[in-house]
Amino acid sequence: MPQPLVIGNWKMNGSLSLTSDILRAIESGIDDKIKCEVGVCVPYVYIAQAHSTIACDSRITVGAQTVSEYKSGAYTGEVSADMLAEINCHWVLVGHSERRVLFNEKDTALVLKVLAAQRAGLVPVYCVGETEADYKAGNTFQTIENQISALLDNKAVDLKQIVLAYEPVWAIGTGLTATPDEAQKVHDFIRQLIKKQNKEAAIKVRILYGGSVKPDSAESLFAQKDIDGGLIGGASLDVEAFLSICQKA
Ligand code: PEP
Repeated sequence: MPQPLVIGNWKMNGSLSLTSDILRAIESGIDDKIKCEVGVCVPYVYIAQAHSTIACDSRITVGAQTVSEYKSGAYTGEVSADMLAEINCHWVLVGHSERRVLFNEKDTALVLKVLAAQRAGLVPVYCVGETEADYKAGNTFQTIENQISALLDNKAVDLKQIVLAYEPVWAIGTGLTATPDEAQKVHDFIRQLIKKQNKEAAIKVRILYGGSVKPDSAESLFAQKDIDGGLIGGASLDVEAFLSICQKA
């Protein structure tokens, strides 16, 4: 069984002082009761600050929230995977629904981002999830299959060096969550899709659930067989809630 993983996604929140305050508090709150791996994806500009705040041997690993698919060059505003690797970034979110919806990021470009991240030694966290309209129309599995196929069809992607995150778009930041049973079915479906390509990777890959996870909902979600932890938005900025979620993983 893979080690559970909880990653906080701070989105576009924070400041120099908040980054230090939150990370110091999380670091000092991580005790023996927390068995999972703990990551935080902070805004680019706070990655260096995050590293200088936590100890060298900290249990917290730091990540970014997106990355360019290009290596270098005339791409104003973009940040490359090599740049993130150079500042010791470990994770990078790819295809978060806010990137897909608000910044029009499409599967083809997202798979290139995964490849760029892996080439640089980063671990991509590839996010998938259906919209409310898809959910209501009963199209959840088809949507997930389309989003995952883009990834699985590219043989250059290393499925053993990736994390998947299932985040129903209707659950992100809304206070709504999929029921543990609903989430488990989708996680199992994702694992089966991976298994068709690579049995070993299907056992090893961690599939996180995201979408308004709170301390109260975490336990029953993480108790599901194919839910290997969580991608946490809002609650990751609340130290007590985040630590409690980590404890439940
Ligand atoms: C997210 O941003 O990935 C997320 C799951 O947000 P929230 O927990 O706030 O729904």
